[in-house]
Amino acid sequence: MNILLVDDSRTIRNIQKNVLKQLGHTDIVEAEDGVIAYAIFSKQPPDLMLVDWNMPNMDGITLIRKVRETNKTIPIIMCTTEAEKSRVLEAIKAGVNNYIVKPFTVESLGEKISQTMAKATGAAAAS
Ligand SMILES: [Mg+2]
Repeated sequence: MNILLVDDSRTIRNIQKNVLKQLGHTDIVEAEDGVIAYAIFSKQPPDLMLVDWNMPNMDGITLIRKVRETNKTIPIIMCTTEAEKSRVLEAIKAGVNNYIVKPFTVESLGEKISQTMAKATGAAAAS
């Protein structure tokens, strides 16, 4: 499974990559803002996107709205801080499938990914 990991903090990306690795995911492409992520998505849509909220150039919510203009099915998990949790409804309206509060554990991310992928493949099969 190819995962597009979007976060402006290299430290956070490294932590997340490590968590993903522990879950057995090694096919990961990184982007440091929404502009780069959108360019990667346009070239080759990944199987799953993990998206940070606050980033320079293009933030996570704008990225998600842009992706959803052309792709309604790609699973997207928003990675929020505790402070952004109250804005999660906005993210859901923009089309995220799930969200997780940073910092997250291997178990919690693993659970979110399985939930999200199960729902996404279920929805694809039903449509
Ligand atoms: Mg950020």
